[in-house]
Amino acid sequence: MTRTVYVNGAYLPETEATVSIFDRGFLMADGVYEVTSVLDGKLIDFAGHATRLERSLSELDMASPVTMEELLEIHRELVRLNGIDEGAVYLQITRGAPADRDFVFPDPAATPSTIVLFTQSKPGLSAPAAAQKGIKVISIDDIRWGRRDIKTVQLLYPSMGKMMAKKAGCDDAWMVEDGFVTEGTSNNAYFIKGNKIVTRALSNDILHGITRAAVLRFAQEAQMEVEERNFTIEEAQAADEAFVTSATTFVMPVVEIDGVALSGGKGGPKALRLREIYIDESRKAAV
Ligand code: PMP
Repeated sequence: MTRTVYVNGAYLPETEATVSIFDRGFLMADGVYEVTSVLDGKLIDFAGHATRLERSLSELDMASPVTMEELLEIHRELVRLNGIDEGAVYLQITRGAPADRDFVFPDPAATPSTIVLFTQSKPGLSAPAAAQKGIKVISIDDIRWGRRDIKTVQLLYPSMGKMMAKKAGCDDAWMVEDGFVTEGTSNNAYFIKGNKIVTRALSNDILHGITRAAVLRFAQEAQMEVEERNFTIEEAQAADEAFVTSATTFVMPVVEIDGVALSGGKGGPKALRLREIYIDESRKAAV
């Protein structure tokens, strides 16, 4: 089926949607993005994603071509037009397409931002089978830039990290800087020891995950202890359970870290329970 996508004010078949070769997203990775999950045809935590988008834009001095209210309507219209039951909506805003390539930012009055949205249908997104199996991760050096809190489209290194994991027969990579885990290539990283969840504290070193915020809140409501601090690969390997969170994988158990099996090589009970709570609560609050 040909998707209907959104480009700069127009709903178009994906085959007719175009962006200029001078777009700074294409030439300079000068753009930000968000991915919002869809369950039961509704958006999960849209408000969180919209708030983070506004922050990413403002940190880069980039204008939004639409209001957050308009953005919600565009998301909903795309979900409706494409009949998405379970899946995601991808959104990207770039600093637009000036007349030529130049390192200097264009005048926003003369060069409007580019906005693109498209849907991804993922039937079975919320099904528990993959989660029970969990994922295997390797550790790699974190060589990304210093503003990982801004959700930019500079995804080459995370993409290389996934390829390194694949080559090693694993699913993903956790990145390590100065001896401590920062995050996964496209998710936040955690381990569980006893009743305690440990994850790195928020700073410019990691993306402030929308799923992370919700899961830590639900964990505390479920009487689990949450400790936000630096941790090492060795500490996570010695834990009872480990997991990652992201908008499209929710809570995903990690069953192996650099060849060391955790929770008997299958999804741990606490991580799976947190996944269940997260999905149930998110469905209730979806818009
Ligand atoms: N860290 C990184 C590097 C990511 O790319 C993502 C997913 N975009 C996350 C964490 C998780 O963020 P969220 O829960 O908002 O999807």
